[in-house]
Amino acid sequence: MHNLLDSITDVLLMGPGPSAVHPEVYKALARPTLGHLDSEFIAIMDQTKEHMRWLMNTKNALTFPISGTGSAGMETCFVNLVEPGDSVLVLVNGVFGKRMVEVASRLGAQVDTVDAMWGMPIDIVDVRAALKKKAYKIVALVHAETSTGVLNPVQEIAAEVGRTEALFLLDSVTGLGGIPVKVDEWRVDAFYSGTQKCLSVPPGLAPASLSARAHEVLNARKKPVPNWYLDVSLLTSYWEGAKRAYHHTAPINMIYGLYQGLLLLRAEGQEAAFARHREAHLQFVEGIEEMGLSMLVPKESRLPMLNAVVVPEGVDEAAVRARLRQEYHIEIGAGLGPLAGAIWRVGLMGYTARPENVTRVLNALRGCLS
Ligand code: PLP
Repeated sequence: MHNLLDSITDVLLMGPGPSAVHPEVYKALARPTLGHLDSEFIAIMDQTKEHMRWLMNTKNALTFPISGTGSAGMETCFVNLVEPGDSVLVLVNGVFGKRMVEVASRLGAQVDTVDAMWGMPIDIVDVRAALKKKAYKIVALVHAETSTGVLNPVQEIAAEVGRTEALFLLDSVTGLGGIPVKVDEWRVDAFYSGTQKCLSVPPGLAPASLSARAHEVLNARKKPVPNWYLDVSLLTSYWEGAKRAYHHTAPINMIYGLYQGLLLLRAEGQEAAFARHREAHLQFVEGIEEMGLSMLVPKESRLPMLNAVVVPEGVDEAAVRARLRQEYHIEIGAGLGPLAGAIWRVGLMGYTARPENVTRVLNALRGCLS
């Protein structure tokens, strides 16, 4: 019988994610599947948690991957901490901040927002003003806004949130592994990421972490967590303790993949991985500017791993993307929402973030635009 998988070609993934998977991770995914309560597998789970703590810079006991993509991480953080009527402040400057508003609202939260123009960072003055006006249970921020390529000023925002009683919820789906993430130093109470960006692993898991304070809030809930699958108080029976109990069948091979991706980062070192992303970004921007193109985001707020390039006047952006995919076997991303048609999003994440890939995409873009 014809197998569609036989005709998959090797596409260089340079969009907003997924990014290129490291060959060692592919090997890890193909290892024999163990039972989800097998002692050998539990040792891998425990090491995976330890490596996650290392990369997140946290001592949080509650640090483990959620079964599901980055959005499952987002749902987990909100569903465990929000009760109907709770006041939540979401800082919005792109698609993923908007998604947080949607998720928190569906749980019955009273959601306020601080908004910034897409392509610009959240303004700390606005955050300060909002926190002065009202007390919030949760303040939520997207560290690396994948829809625009903006790095939000997480350290300054963390300091403002730290002056209040609010829990600090941080999305670093795109940041983790490519820029510093300091869960303990920034006093982040609920954190999540995704495997398919700077960890060089396919999509499928959401590395997450909850602080002791978030755990207390969870334990003090008036009503049970309304979602059984993502209830952290149930998930801990599988992820923690000397004796493990079944909750759901863990995606065993995906956990091998995450474990391997984290091992690779440990071998490389955090600083070296961040430098690799930064250098790829600088090489890319130099090439883009040499071509007479410009970047959307001001220099000081640019993410290294997500590069938003302004589409030049008169160019059919979708046609360029289609040609890149068909002729050059490279995938890049389009703009979303108000930026649809206005930008290309070029990802330099994880195993994609290497000089030869930057050269390849720049040459291909030159070919398409000449
Ligand atoms: N948050 C951010 C910043 C993202 O970039 C993404 C995905 O691109 C998500 C959340 C959602 O993750 P997923 O698509 O893996 O569910």
